Amino acid sequence: MSILAWIEDRRKQKLKPELDQTTDNKVLGSDGSQGLWTRCDSCGIILYIKHLKSNQRVCFGCGYHLQMNSNERIESLIDSSTWRPLYETVSPCDPLTFKDQKTYPERLLEAQHRTGLQDAVQTGTGLIDGIPVALGVMDFHFMGGSMGSVVGEKITRLIEYATKKGLTVILICASGGARMQEGILSLMQMAKISAALHVHQSCANLLYISVLTSPTTGGVTASFAMLGDLIFAEPKALIGFAGRRVIEQTLQEQLPDNFQTAEYLLHHGLIDLIICRSFLKQAVSETLNFYKYAPFKRSGYIPTKMN
Ligand SMILES: [Zn+2]
Repeated sequence: MSILAWIEDRRKQKLKPELDQTTDNKVLGSDGSQGLWTRCDSCGIILYIKHLKSNQRVCFGCGYHLQMNSNERIESLIDSSTWRPLYETVSPCDPLTFKDQKTYPERLLEAQHRTGLQDAVQTGTGLIDGIPVALGVMDFHFMGGSMGSVVGEKITRLIEYATKKGLTVILICASGGARMQEGILSLMQMAKISAALHVHQSCANLLYISVLTSPTTGGVTASFAMLGDLIFAEPKALIGFAGRRVIEQTLQEQLPDNFQTAEYLLHHGLIDLIICRSFLKQAVSETLNFYKYAPFKRSGYIPTKMN
């Protein structure tokens, strides 16, 4: 078997993950598969996962930013030994007894086993170059980073905690959108998070930075991803609401090739900065240092009435 065929074989195996596989995130490939090798989604070159991880999953050949899991993201952003997770025990349930080819609880168990997470976001506090922040990191490997009740609840609680403590909120977005298995309950998370952000940003005058990674789509784009005081994105990240085909068929128009990329959005004024992964921590740290001197900054609180 050639090495290309072997890698292709490994990629196919990820489509039928087995419950008896290990849950150790540290050996997962960028696409959630296990093994030593993976292939760049952009240029196709073969990459040794150990080296790729040491380069923050940025392709050595073309600089494409492959997906990171939430543990790697926290490790790359937060000063070592300062991460304190919050709301780890909040767990999903099945309010609609949803079933497609599998039941929703089966899909949840499978994702929990594969990723070692309870749901598609990790929340907590930590230091970035010594500055305390409240950080939420979505994980695309857990059911496509979809936003259900747990994701919404954890992010809302994190924002409320940050408002009380006067912390900056940073949310790293990676999501296919709202979680269809929870129907309207997942859609209402958009409003819930947005309301908490309004108090944080407009009433308590605190900073919120959103970082958009590939892909950030659907309900996440339509709510907190685009509400950042500062919106950063990774190079060539796919960012959009509806899919390209849906828009083309609705408008009966051909869209440009770079449509829904971070570069296109920057050009049209929807995001503030495109930043390479290796400089992200530095960029956030410098922004926070500037923010210390912002004229409206006050220690956070939840106001009793709107100003
Ligand atoms: Zn590449």
